[in-house]
Amino acid sequence: MHEASIANSILEISIGTAIENNSNKITLVSVRIGKMATIDESSLRFAFDAIKENTIAENAVFEFNRVPLLGVCTDCNHEAEYPGYFVACAECGSMSIKMVSGDELEIAHIEVE
Ligand SMILES: [Zn+2]
Repeated sequence: MHEASIANSILEISIGTAIENNSNKITLVSVRIGKMATIDESSLRFAFDAIKENTIAENAVFEFNRVPLLGVCTDCNHEAEYPGYFVACAECGSMSIKMVSGDELEIAHIEVE
């Protein structure tokens, strides 16, 4: 039920933001999820659609964006996209790679009316 609790947080934050902006209708909720975040898109979408009923977000479009896994070599500063795990730096062969992006779980933006 990991996705259900995340969907709940996303909905609460979205509604809170809409209220702060004196809006009573949310039209779009866009999230950014890193490749390394263990979130299943269809489960999250399903959970969000289920709980948005009868809220000001009930007609909101749910937009899901995957953020690629990017790493930077701490020895030569070479930055590259990785397939879901880190391998040796393509430039210098170092195994010392630091994550730049890929573990995000955040609301990118919300549109209201
Ligand atoms: Zn390197």
